[in-house]
Amino acid sequence: MKRKPFIAANWKMNKTNSEAIQSAKELALLTKELKQERDVIIAPAYVSLLSVYEVIKTSDIKLSAQNVFFEKDGAYTGEVSFDMLLSVGCSYVIIGHSERRHIFNESDEMINKKVKASLNYNLNPILCIGEKKEERDLGNTFEVLDKQLKKGIDEVDFTKNVDFIVAYEPVWAIGTGDTATALQVDEVHKFLRKILTQYKGTSFADKTRILYGGSVTPDNIKELMQIEDVDGVLVGGASLKAETFFKIINY
Ligand code: PEP
Repeated sequence: MKRKPFIAANWKMNKTNSEAIQSAKELALLTKELKQERDVIIAPAYVSLLSVYEVIKTSDIKLSAQNVFFEKDGAYTGEVSFDMLLSVGCSYVIIGHSERRHIFNESDEMINKKVKASLNYNLNPILCIGEKKEERDLGNTFEVLDKQLKKGIDEVDFTKNVDFIVAYEPVWAIGTGDTATALQVDEVHKFLRKILTQYKGTSFADKTRILYGGSVTPDNIKELMQIEDVDGVLVGGASLKAETFFKIINY
């Protein structure tokens, strides 16, 4: 089944506000030349969301945040709410990125609360899951992914019209230059589609886009996008330069 390619940039904790504005301007200019049908998303740091939105609002690029907190408002120093993200033009939010899970100790329970809240607020969630190197080496990849995906979407009301995205990001492939092989990506994406089908039904599984993330570059994008159940990519390092990211978008 053909799903519209979803190509997302995660800028992580990179770029000052003026650098983010500059990159967004360059990308908006480059994507004007885009011939293919693509969903293009950029996720700058919180502090640059509004200024980047002002640059891209007249383009086809959409805005994502890199994280969110699930409570509506209140005494949560340092956190940012769904209403705040919506108020600065976000239409997507990355939830459960491996750096949130492993550096900031976000649990599956917390991630599930964020996914649930994203549907209540109509902000499209990009749920990230992925196994660590030791988990793969021990043969536990599928068990880990099964748990992360099922817990992430447990009791989530998908009758609401939301563009739910799953990103498979093996932790050992993120920022390492060590991309998963086509065979590894293929078997995981098929497995994830199967879980979505069993858990939420065929039509939901069919429309859900499953991204691959982990050292994606202009050199490996074509091969990755040829894999049947790969519907797009989440790109870190190679998204920081607009020209390089555009090569990935325009694979
Ligand atoms: C990421 O952090 O989501 C990511 C995939 O990073 P990189 O492309 O740098 O591996």
